Amino acid sequence: MSKVSPLLDSLIEALQCLPGVGPKSAQRMALHLLERNKNAGLILANTLEEALEKVDKCSECRIFTESDKCQICSNEKRNQNLLCVVESVSDVFAIEQSNQFNGHYFILHGHLSPIDDIGPDELALSSLFSKVEKNSIEEVILATGSTLEGETTSHFIFDYLKDIKNLKITKLARGVPLGGELEYVDRGTIMHALSDRQVLKEEN
Ligand code: ZN
Repeated sequence: MSKVSPLLDSLIEALQCLPGVGPKSAQRMALHLLERNKNAGLILANTLEEALEKVDKCSECRIFTESDKCQICSNEKRNQNLLCVVESVSDVFAIEQSNQFNGHYFILHGHLSPIDDIGPDELALSSLFSKVEKNSIEEVILATGSTLEGETTSHFIFDYLKDIKNLKITKLARGVPLGGELEYVDRGTIMHALSDRQVLKEEN
């Protein structure tokens, strides 16, 4: 408590919803905005409000967008037959930076985790499965994290998709930390993980 301003206290408290921001950093941020950068603070507040109000999940791939369909899904130059399943939006950013992938994505926004009550519904797996069944997808690349939960999620998806005719299923080459951590991996490693992907099931 600052003992000077309840609103300042609320601001410091609110800023702590951000990852990695504790009371000390939150206090520094709040004072910085009030002391030196009120304008930027207002822009931040307005942008934050607008983004939270308008940005939602793409109806096709579940990436964040303010349209019904995101720019990746509506880009006709991309390969519709290739679908890469990732845990988080930051994985998409990292893969896009590698310039090695021209297909579509499906974002799970997490992994199966019974302890946290995250099951197939939370990851929208039924919409992933019906997307693969209904569209002419030729290859699904499983690019979930290399953690135990990531692997479990990948197995679960594979088990469901393995009986679909004419579908090839692959996974990224080992040794690449995924699941929100791809952003820390260099471009070359991601290129390698994509080009050397491991075939789990051939196209038959
Ligand atoms: Zn999309």
